[in-house]
Amino acid sequence: MNEVSLKGITKSYGSHLAIPPLDLEIPKGKFVTLLGPSGCGKTTTLRIIAGLEQPSSGELTLAGKTVYSGRGGHFVPPEKRGLGFIFQSYALWPNMKVDRNITLALHQAKRPKDEIAERLGEALHKVQLEGYEGRFPSELSGGQQQRVAVARLIAARNSILLMDEPLSNLDAVLRTEMRTELKRLSRDLGATTVYVTHDQVEALTMSDIIVVMKDGLIQQIGSPYEIYHEPANLFVAEFIGDPRINVFDGNLEQRDGKSIIRIHETGIVLKHQVARAEGPIKFAIRPERLNLLDAPAVNALPAEVDVVQPTGSQTILSLSAHGMPITALIPRFVESWPNRKIWLEFDPENIMMFDPHTGKIIN
Ligand code: ATP
Repeated sequence: MNEVSLKGITKSYGSHLAIPPLDLEIPKGKFVTLLGPSGCGKTTTLRIIAGLEQPSSGELTLAGKTVYSGRGGHFVPPEKRGLGFIFQSYALWPNMKVDRNITLALHQAKRPKDEIAERLGEALHKVQLEGYEGRFPSELSGGQQQRVAVARLIAARNSILLMDEPLSNLDAVLRTEMRTELKRLSRDLGATTVYVTHDQVEALTMSDIIVVMKDGLIQQIGSPYEIYHEPANLFVAEFIGDPRINVFDGNLEQRDGKSIIRIHETGIVLKHQVARAEGPIKFAIRPERLNLLDAPAVNALPAEVDVVQPTGSQTILSLSAHGMPITALIPRFVESWPNRKIWLEFDPENIMMFDPHTGKIIN
């Protein structure tokens, strides 16, 4: 059975339909990320799961229990849903010391004193904040405050965790550290986690399942591998990946039982015949999948190197071919490129094709 189940959930604000009917099933124990650009409805969806927002219609069940039903007018308030939260602002109580912040819910639930003490000790140990229990949040750094919020989740031992952009206020180093921390936390608790972000790196690194959203509509649900390598449409292909995927306009032609993508004077001969009429298509290739050659070859486009940007372990090359900007990524440190003129080989295995009108992938 799925731990979180949304059936036909909608949300309108006045006449604005922010969430058109949404169906989403989240399996127990999985780390699921809602990913999409600003305004796509991911926060609203998370707040609906949390009970902080009442849907306009549909049905929501958590661990098999109906917590919202549009038909029956049934609505279970957030504090009775047994969920753990961690939001962008860590929502620590400024007037309470660290220990109280971590154990407040346990005190409210009237858990025995020795159990509270044991869970507090365990949680402080896990986030390496032993010795800080007597401090107020204002006496901690941003990262330490974040760890208090994590410790609160550990102590509460909720089986469903909701996280809304919890890392967005942190600097780059801490963000990477906390990413590992949250992934470990979710795994160690065996929790079902619903995580909201617009950051594709967070989504790829942390998730078992990614749900890509746009305008309240789910574009694709898949593993990080599927989302990156087998995008359902052009929107997903362009949203995931940094540097961005290269997209070109081409023309599909059929010749001698083979399919060819014509781009300027180069024809990229595909391995398999594509069962599709001839005509314009969009095709795409990830920057790391372009092969850089120093002589002409089959399936290769002449190009000029424009800007070279080493990032440490990799180098981003900005190129142009027939006036089209192209990005290539190579897995080593390069400061400058000796020959401005090169050939970019498009391995047909690595090309994705999309319908130019619907954006859907063509297989
Ligand atoms: P962000 O990353 O910017 O938070 P998001 O994907 O989480 O974006 P939501 O906050 O869920 O998006 O918003 C979805 C849509 O609903 C947007 O069009 C937004 O303007 C609208 N919306 C959200 N909350 C309200 C509200 N309280 N009143 C009116 N419209 C709202």
